[in-house]
Amino acid sequence: MPGLVLIGLLAASLALRLWLAWRQARYLRHVEDARLRRYATARAVFGIGVAACQAGLILALTLGGIIAWLERVWRPGPMAGAGIVGTVVLAFSLLAGVAHIGQSLTIDARSGLERRRLGACLCSALVAVAASVALAALAGQALSWLIATYPTVWWLWATVLAGLGLSAKANLGSRGPSHTSAQAGPADAPDLSAALARCELPNIPVRVRKSPTGARRANARIVGAGRALHVEVSDTLLALLTRTEVEAVLAHEAGHCRRHHFARDLAAQIGLVAGGFAVLALAMRSPAIAQGLGISGARSAGWLALAVTLAPLAWFFLRPLRAYQRRRFEYEADDFAARHADAGALMRAVAKLNAANATPPASDPLYVRVYNFHPDERDRFRRLRASIGAD
Ligand SMILES: [Zn+2]
Repeated sequence: MPGLVLIGLLAASLALRLWLAWRQARYLRHVEDARLRRYATARAVFGIGVAACQAGLILALTLGGIIAWLERVWRPGPMAGAGIVGTVVLAFSLLAGVAHIGQSLTIDARSGLERRRLGACLCSALVAVAASVALAALAGQALSWLIATYPTVWWLWATVLAGLGLSAKANLGSRGPSHTSAQAGPADAPDLSAALARCELPNIPVRVRKSPTGARRANARIVGAGRALHVEVSDTLLALLTRTEVEAVLAHEAGHCRRHHFARDLAAQIGLVAGGFAVLALAMRSPAIAQGLGISGARSAGWLALAVTLAPLAWFFLRPLRAYQRRRFEYEADDFAARHADAGALMRAVAKLNAANATPPASDPLYVRVYNFHPDERDRFRRLRASIGAD
């Protein structure tokens, strides 16, 4: 029975993806810019291919018996948790890496978004795979120990551990090849810190991220937390926008800070992880679930590997909730920017950035609700115009 439920959920998720991609392709026929239309349609179709491969991997790992085989290969011992969970994550990371390289070299390259060589793509993919596997092995080992040590409340401790890990990841993610606005930036870089001071955030540094040669993507974002908190803008953004437009974008990023979006986002992530651990703790009491999904059920590492395997499927059905929250954050940041900077300049900046990133001005509304963490340009402009009128 659990096996049939899994097959049904996988089939439902693929059918939904196919239907959403068809709706998106039909909607995009009205987009005038052929480059945007082709890129957005190709990405929607490419996503279906990747999801189909992922579904095949999920079936192979569970009903195909690969996790059960891993449980036999990695006999109980000091490294069993790391080995079983790490191997499963290696399989998913390799698939994600191949998909990323495929997208970079075909869809992104054709649209002019990136001009990367295969060697550079392979190098960054291998680093990402190695980091994911190392992290998964560490987490697998730690969680196996927690389950063995605290059999009833392990999931509470695991949530604390995951919260610490997510916070650390946010801070570590802030490291990279960048320089502060006080150092040498592009010749015409505006006084970025002064713009943030006008948003009552005088002490947050702005760092300029150097984009790979030939890259067109341009963006700005809040990175890090606590003392590591800073605004990161790409050099491509500075080259693309006027001074007033950059200031409006910084006011939008300041809005994310002032509305505590980082903390609220982290809380949502920890809530999701806690829910996942609680469901796993309940499932671990059921030998029928283990038997139905192809694992022995006797070893915590096998259960953890099963959870990792099913996470992408669960994520597909939970994604609309996260996407809704993230789109609310964007609206709140836009509202803040409209009060502290030129709303017209923000609209011009958003239009330029969307064109540079090959993001269509509007997408199928249902497609947006399921997938998009950013609202459509059209909806953002409608709210910004309303906020200007309200002032
Ligand atoms: Zn934003």
